[in-house]
Amino acid sequence: MAKNGVQFQKGLSLTSFLDQYGTEEQCREAVYKMRWPHGYQCPECGGEKYSEIKTRKLFQCSQCRHQISLTPLCQ
Ligand SMILES: [Zn+2]
Repeated sequence: MAKNGVQFQKGLSLTSFLDQYGTEEQCREAVYKMRWPHGYQCPECGGEKYSEIKTRKLFQCSQCRHQISLTPLCQ
């Protein structure tokens, strides 16, 4: 019995995954939409307003200043 190695499902291949989430920017957007499909909500206080700290790639809640980083999920 010959082994053909790992076969990726069509449409779910690693290549198309990387095409879709290839850049950190794209990945963050995908993670954002996955996490907050109806818009940002702070896990600490439920606040819906945030500011983005672009230099540190963090989302900061405007209400309680809780900070969230999405990038660890993109590495
Ligand atoms: Zn908050």
